[in-house]
Amino acid sequence: MTHSTTTLKWLLTALLIGSLFAPVRAIAPDKLVALKRLSTTNRTTALLLSTRYLKDTDNRQQRLQISEYRCTALLGLNRYADVQQLYRQYEDELARFPHHQLALGACYASAVDRLGHNERAIKLLKQLHKAVDGEANPYGMSMVLVALSSIQSYQGLYVDALENLNSGLSLYERSGVTDLHHELHIYNAMANTYKYIGNMALASENYQQALLLAREHKDRLSELTVLNNLASVSIDQDDFDKAIGLASESKRIAIELGDAAGVGYAKIAIATAFAHQGKYQLAISTLDKVAATFHRLKEVDGCATVHLKRATWLTQLHQYQPALTEALEAESHYRQSNSHIGLSRIYNVLADVYRHLGMLEMALQAQDKKIEHLQVIFEQDVQREIAKNQLELQQSLERKKNEILNYKYQVSQAVIDKTQAENQLNQIVSWFAVTLAILVSLMWFRSYSFSNKLRHSAYHDPLTQLPNRRSIMEQLTKLAALSARHQRSFVVAMLDIDHFKKINDTHGHLQGDAVLKLIADALSNQMRSEDSCGRLGGEEFLILLPETSASQGKVVLERVRHAIEQLQPEGIGQVTASIGYGESRGELPIDKLLSEVDVALYQAKALGRNCSVRVGR
Ligand code: GH3
Ligand code: MG
Ligand code: MG
Repeated sequence: MTHSTTTLKWLLTALLIGSLFAPVRAIAPDKLVALKRLSTTNRTTALLLSTRYLKDTDNRQQRLQISEYRCTALLGLNRYADVQQLYRQYEDELARFPHHQLALGACYASAVDRLGHNERAIKLLKQLHKAVDGEANPYGMSMVLVALSSIQSYQGLYVDALENLNSGLSLYERSGVTDLHHELHIYNAMANTYKYIGNMALASENYQQALLLAREHKDRLSELTVLNNLASVSIDQDDFDKAIGLASESKRIAIELGDAAGVGYAKIAIATAFAHQGKYQLAISTLDKVAATFHRLKEVDGCATVHLKRATWLTQLHQYQPALTEALEAESHYRQSNSHIGLSRIYNVLADVYRHLGMLEMALQAQDKKIEHLQVIFEQDVQREIAKNQLELQQSLERKKNEILNYKYQVSQAVIDKTQAENQLNQIVSWFAVTLAILVSLMWFRSYSFSNKLRHSAYHDPLTQLPNRRSIMEQLTKLAALSARHQRSFVVAMLDIDHFKKINDTHGHLQGDAVLKLIADALSNQMRSEDSCGRLGGEEFLILLPETSASQGKVVLERVRHAIEQLQPEGIGQVTASIGYGESRGELPIDKLLSEVDVALYQAKALGRNCSVRVGR
């Protein structure tokens, strides 16, 4: 028992490891290319193959790709419910694969549309257009736009359809993918749209392009469709023989391919050409069994068209009863596909038929319904116009808003600029004021110091910096006056340097100046704080000693004289001075006092110089 359990465990482990190393199954790429081709040319085979391939691959991306081709084939075979089922099976996975999401989504939306839910289909496609990045997935987005255009074209939104087809074509061209069938489909759809809006020349041009591609692609199915469309353009251009020729070629290919629907559409073209030639009976009989074929194939559009055409032609032959049967058939089919254009046409025929059958009540009702559907078409047109205008209005409103915002911004910018300029101006002004103040103060200071200097030089001797003659004489005048008032004595002395001429002569004038300065300094230094001295001129000085008696003055003057004696300027040797002085209480006039002092000085010179002599001695 234990032994067999162990064996089982080992066996399971081996199986697990083996499955890990087992190769992932995949389909060869060339087989997928072939499947893609078959999905548009031989749909039944494509379906069989896709069923097998889906079983044979484990690769998720490949499974999505195969499903995409299977979807195309199912759509071509009008198996819309199967398309929906297939899409739903992969729906959750698709968000991770934008390309497959677009391709399968476009296919699914087309199926939804064919089942009559065109608004839902449009919504789906627009959602895809919004959700997926078209620039990154140009091929897939091209499919979405082409699917959208086909619904829009059916709804009569031809301008929108053409716009989407053009975008779809340029996206396809940019994608670098070679999908002749898709390209052909775009040209064919463009041609169809041009045909609907009545531009037969452009329709024919685009059909020719599609025909070339179909032949290049060896896509017989598309070839027969395009030939048929070309035939209908020829009818519009009143070239009925050419139309019959083209449609017959289309019919031949359809028979060859066993494409019953293709045969049906070719017969419609041939019959229409007959009808345009007035061969109504032939036209009607050409379409005898076609409605039944379409019915079997669930080709709602084809069925509706055949019944409408037959009803119209029967009224031309005044066969109103069979016309009514046909018209009612057509009505039920158009109701199914909810085509307002088709319904408006059929009610037009019905109104005519009822009138001729004498069923006036019914004729009126049909007329009303025709108007109703025309009104819907008209309203749709108006709605589109309104939507377009609203969009334009919104855009221009947006533009105006932007302009206002821009203007506001400019205004606020201007305010900021102005404030900045003002600040700058204020700064400049304050700088200017400060600079001006500095300049003014500087100038004031300069003028102040200048006037000071001026004042100084007016009262001082430039060489010795002692008070000059004028200054010292003023001081003497004041001193004399004060002393007279207070009855106080003061001493006035005159000092003259001895043999100064000789110093000049021996050592030069400059040396003489230097000696003058030295003696002046010595004089100042020896003065008491209240005393003063000044240079009278040449080598003569006047000394004033307030509040001083002659005896006290002599002490000071002797000290001065002695100091001069001690100077002994370098290279000159001893310099001496003679002094004449006198005491006064301000009783004598100044000139008298001075001349007395001058006499005393003269006496000092006479006494042999380097001495001081008091007035009156
Ligand atoms: P005494 O002893 O008799 O006074 O003889 P003295 O040579 O000093 O007198 P005198 O009046 O003959 O000469 C004065 C000289 O002083 C004449 C002049 O050249 C000189 N003198 C006057 N002012 C200045 C001065 O500012 N600088 C110089 N270097 N010499 C001056
Ligand atoms: Mg002299
Ligand atoms: Mg002298």
